[in-house]
Amino acid sequence: MKKFISAFLAAVVFIAVLSSFSSCEKNEEKEYFDANFIAMDTAVTVRLARNSGKKDGRKIIYFDDAYLNEIKQNCADIAKEIEASLSRTIDGSIVSYINKETDCVLDIDGDFISLLNESFELSENTGGAFNITLGTLTELWNITGDTHRVPSAEEISDALSHTGNDKITVGASDVKKSDRKLKIDLGAIGKGYALEKITEYLESTDVLYGLVSFGGNVSVFGSKEIKGTKDEESQKYKIGITDPLDTSKVVGYVYIDSGYVSVSGDYERYFEENGIRYHHIFDPETGYPADSGLSSVAVICSDASTADALSTALFVMGYEKALDFYKSEKYDFEAVFTKKDGTTLLTSGLSESGMFEEYVEEPAEPANTD
Ligand code: ADP
Ligand code: MG
Repeated sequence: MKKFISAFLAAVVFIAVLSSFSSCEKNEEKEYFDANFIAMDTAVTVRLARNSGKKDGRKIIYFDDAYLNEIKQNCADIAKEIEASLSRTIDGSIVSYINKETDCVLDIDGDFISLLNESFELSENTGGAFNITLGTLTELWNITGDTHRVPSAEEISDALSHTGNDKITVGASDVKKSDRKLKIDLGAIGKGYALEKITEYLESTDVLYGLVSFGGNVSVFGSKEIKGTKDEESQKYKIGITDPLDTSKVVGYVYIDSGYVSVSGDYERYFEENGIRYHHIFDPETGYPADSGLSSVAVICSDASTADALSTALFVMGYEKALDFYKSEKYDFEAVFTKKDGTTLLTSGLSESGMFEEYVEEPAEPANTD
């Protein structure tokens, strides 16, 4: 029996804000304004602090819904604009031009070129585990589309023959391909990239603090210190990491006051055939969904596109290789790994810092035998 679960509205990471929804002494307004929109096939939630300041122990201005709605709309516009250039399926996107059977695409904007260069650097540094040239392969499998199926070994090896960083060259404003059939897929970095641009925008507004959840990517911005407390713990947000074995639960919580958390897992976008789960994170060497023993990887990092790309790459590597990669200190990050057997493992910086709290199920109430 085939089963397909769309990730359309599912969130990989859910947010539990420590001091959520505290109300004002003067009126019943909430501390946060929450708004949602859809971009890149993903539900995005923006949570913005309403208070603009504090004087003599009283919050002095509250942003009203109209103002915060405008900010949310600007966030949605940023995401839409990025989607319009990064999407494989939107006609006229830069990616769709590069993916045509062509030798060269000219006049590409600087931001896109920078993202490509960053992607190729991440690819090199992860030993190819993160690979944006897998377009022919991801299109063949079409995991998230209606026509998903398990391709033949010949089809997979043919698709793989049109992948590889050596078949594409990035210039100052152009991209050249030595294999016309090569296609790029920025699915593993695009949401992180968009999240970073949205967060940078939010930091430039009057909103003092808040967070954004973009599918499996979360950002925390600003400073909660304005609330008048110097208590470090209360500045932090509590980010729940979904349990891949039971998505109604969490494996634990990450506590951060700034930066990004990105999760990649095998439980969101997949289909099943003959009892085998075929998910959307591919091993670029085999052409099949990565079978590394992991079910999910959460990466905590001060850079969003790095967090997004690394969560995908570490998933492909598997725990042991990912740990070697962590120890190489090529990137400054921490990670939470959940294996297929449900074991959760942490990088040393995370376990030593106390930034992670494992979820412990409350013991069930003893049955009343009276
Ligand atoms: P999600 O998109 O659910 O947040 P990821 O960030 O892990 O998950 O990205 C997975 C997407 O990235 C896939 O849908 C595919 O488009 C692309 N992809 C799959 N495998 C790789 C890989 N090894 N390297 C780079 N991109 C990949
Ligand atoms: Mg990713």
